[in-house]
Amino acid sequence: MIKKRFLNQMLKKSVISLENHPEYSAFPHWTYIVYKNEIVSIGLNRKYEPPITYGYHRSDDPTFIPKWHSELDAIKKWNIRNSGFDIVNIRLNKSGDIRLSKPCKTCTKMLYFLNCRNAYFTTNNNEFDCININLQSQNNILI
Ligand SMILES: [Zn+2]
Repeated sequence: MIKKRFLNQMLKKSVISLENHPEYSAFPHWTYIVYKNEIVSIGLNRKYEPPITYGYHRSDDPTFIPKWHSELDAIKKWNIRNSGFDIVNIRLNKSGDIRLSKPCKTCTKMLYFLNCRNAYFTTNNNEFDCININLQSQNNILI
């Protein structure tokens, strides 16, 4: 379980770096990989061309333009990739307000196969929520 104080530290880190995010004017997402209570990788989403090679659709919304998702970016930057890690997703709007950043189905599937335990994510209610990746996968993806 990641403590509220640690989640808020990551939120603060995102707010500070907001203007440097490649998607600052659109939908900036951050993914922090937390392993043994330490941040071991930070991923940022962005547009990439060609999308087939460098990104993917959200499988729950095929009309959504393919993107390089922050979860994938964080995984790519983490060379060690131990099992049993957690992720923390944060999305802010341009004004720094907290927005929903629940992992999409494609990312959830990837996280499941990499043995991620929990995904914490910001909500539109100005707080963090958490999903268990195993349960999420059993209910939504593997059936
Ligand atoms: Zn995704």
